[in-house]
Amino acid sequence: MTHLAPILETAVSGAALVSGGALAYAVRVPACSWLAPSVCRGAGTRPAIALTFDDGPSESTSALLEILARHRAPASFFQCGANVRRLPGAASEVAAAGHEIGNHSHRHPLLALKSPGFIHRELSAAQDAIEHATGIRPRYFRAPYGARWFGLRAAQQRLGLQGVMWSVLALDWKMQTPAVVSRLLQGATPGAILCLHDGRALKHRPDIGVTLQTVRELVPKLIEQGFHFEKVTDILCPTKN
Ligand SMILES: [Zn+2]
Repeated sequence: MTHLAPILETAVSGAALVSGGALAYAVRVPACSWLAPSVCRGAGTRPAIALTFDDGPSESTSALLEILARHRAPASFFQCGANVRRLPGAASEVAAAGHEIGNHSHRHPLLALKSPGFIHRELSAAQDAIEHATGIRPRYFRAPYGARWFGLRAAQQRLGLQGVMWSVLALDWKMQTPAVVSRLLQGATPGAILCLHDGRALKHRPDIGVTLQTVRELVPKLIEQGFHFEKVTDILCPTKN
């Protein structure tokens, strides 16, 4: 997720060249489903929060699993196929702990301006890698950098994937822990989907210290406020107990 601003800038100016602001909006605004169906928050019928982690698995994913286990907090991990191939043990550890696994593309490319064939191959390769390592075939997809593009709708449909964006982006790859914690606490409303990172795109041994410390501080605070945690599948269901 590093260097997001310049990458998004390129995507958005590309989009703007094609047909102005409306397209840029469709590419990157979490609540927009024009380019591919997606959700950005849960049902909101109970005090539940979905913790989601992108860009993993990484060498530090087990440390994150330990913190979540301490609080019995289920979460959803949007993994990159290439990271799963590199660290299949970490991917299956996530599955064995009972967390949900989603698709975050194979090599974490910016999908904007790419061909429908390229987009389908990225999603499909990640589905295969995740299924091979964990036995789970994901049902949810989160676009790298949150950028959707033409062809994504068809690719999601062919692979049976529902798009999932977020209601709060943690910015845990560029801000310090206190700022990330306060940002997430502010956005913690019933049904919120919080987006954090247990990796940094395809980087080996990424430093996710801020993410780990954020989760250590955030989870007990949210529990104290009366929230509990649900996987994406559950938070989208209005009638779950
Ligand atoms: Zn990502």
